[in-house]
Amino acid sequence: MAKNITSIALAMCLTLPLIGCVSTTEPRYIIDSQTYQATGKSERIKTIILHYTVGDNARSLKQLTTGNVSSHYLILNEDDDKIYNLVPESERAWHAGDGGFAGRTILNDTSIGIEIVNNGIDPKYRNALKNAALKAEVQGYHPYKHYVEFEEIQIKKVAQLVQDLALRYDISPKNIIGHADMAPSRKIDPGAKFPWQRLYEQYGIGAWYNQQDKQLFMNQDKFEAATIPEIKQAFREYGYQINDSDEWDKASHDVIYAFQLHFSPQHLTATMDLETYAVLKALNKKYAGTDDFY
Ligand SMILES: [Zn+2]
Repeated sequence: MAKNITSIALAMCLTLPLIGCVSTTEPRYIIDSQTYQATGKSERIKTIILHYTVGDNARSLKQLTTGNVSSHYLILNEDDDKIYNLVPESERAWHAGDGGFAGRTILNDTSIGIEIVNNGIDPKYRNALKNAALKAEVQGYHPYKHYVEFEEIQIKKVAQLVQDLALRYDISPKNIIGHADMAPSRKIDPGAKFPWQRLYEQYGIGAWYNQQDKQLFMNQDKFEAATIPEIKQAFREYGYQINDSDEWDKASHDVIYAFQLHFSPQHLTATMDLETYAVLKALNKKYAGTDDFY
């Protein structure tokens, strides 16, 4: 068999001289991966990114299997025992897009993407932000009640999958994030109803703050004394990309909103306030220095 392949290759070399062939007179060198080994190494996968699909099973499947977006895993809204693997973990899925988190950009290179079938914003509220009165009330951002609940079985599947991935790739808790966390001006998924706190408490998944730490930082005087650059630096310290302008512009509000979607979903003000400040400081206290930047 090997002889046949060699003669086919040789024949191709003779007939197609331009394709570039290995000369048969050169020795074949051996890759020795046993004799020496390096200790400075880590997994290529660093981040898990959770999404919702904004669509039903059929539409989500079509988009993720035939279009130019994809994810490694898909969790349908289906009462069965399946988690679909659409892209091998060793390959890139096209789910993250522009953005960054924890000092990493081009996250498709270093992340696993999980899509969950969910409508996102309830269709009856989808155009709500076009209503001027409501828009003013919610600062142009969807409030908690606009988001659609996930099914219980979807959460259980997510929990099992993320637990397994985090263990296999040794992913640090704060690098288990939502799409909004890495692209706050473009994305709001997996939205306010994604139960980050429950996943942390019930399954040990992801990052969450200590209540006592939060109380420690619920100090109005300290909050008022903190300058905008200091607070933005605290966001950066946790992992968020935020601009260094000296004001809370639209892009900065987007970051605050993404942060609240993840860590205080029932308190979606999209503005910097004592509660948000205390949660951010509590997270930094707990997770400072847990990044692997090598
Ligand atoms: Zn997404």
